[in-house]
Amino acid sequence: MPAASIVLLGPPGAGKGTQATPLAEERGLRHLSTGRLLRAAVKEGTPAGRAAERYMDAGGLVPDEIVIGLVRDAIADPATEGGLLLDGFPRTVAQAEALDAAFERHDRPAPLAVLIEVPDEVLVERLAGRRVCADEGHEYHVEHRPPESPGVCDIDGSPLGRRDDDEPETIRRRLAVYHEETEPLVGHYERSGRLHRVSGDAGSAIIQQRIAAALRA
Ligand code: AMP
Repeated sequence: MPAASIVLLGPPGAGKGTQATPLAEERGLRHLSTGRLLRAAVKEGTPAGRAAERYMDAGGLVPDEIVIGLVRDAIADPATEGGLLLDGFPRTVAQAEALDAAFERHDRPAPLAVLIEVPDEVLVERLAGRRVCADEGHEYHVEHRPPESPGVCDIDGSPLGRRDDDEPETIRRRLAVYHEETEPLVGHYERSGRLHRVSGDAGSAIIQQRIAAALRA
């Protein structure tokens, strides 16, 4: 029986991307970030990327059929048989239902959910100060996690910049979209007894410990 897959839920800026890497490594899961897949598709100018770009720039959600298609392809890939760590997906109830159906179709265990909860005012401060590297998207924060040399990624040396959707007005829109469209899916996992809640108003090492403890409980 393969390990259960995990979906990381939480508002933008909750630290899903930061937590995904160690969690996936620890549990032998394949990390899949739909935001990262979509940004790569936009950069490459693929049909999915061209269709997604204007929604992303406006801080809105990319239509379900595009994102669900990307995730279905990943689940059908035998390389993900050992389980997936999904970060940024699902973001709507329809996506959560499509995900369960796809796992069932491939005889994989239904995914567990970890919800990282952070108050909005903390998220605004985190996202406005976030900087990412041009090549790989490694994340920094101007105050809490500055790079060793200003404006340069410690890991691959590429220049750091603000993500287009981390502009203040777009941040507010993304948070509103989260509360309206994504929060309702928490109930989807809670009702089926698959939800683990973790407080994310802390440093990343502490959040990592809290997630491990929640999944052990
Ligand atoms: P993220 O890197 O997870 O913050 O995602 C960046 C942007 O990509 C989001 O603001 C959305 O526009 C889009 N996106 C990522 N994942 C999804 C998803 N599951 N459903 C719809 N849009 C998504």
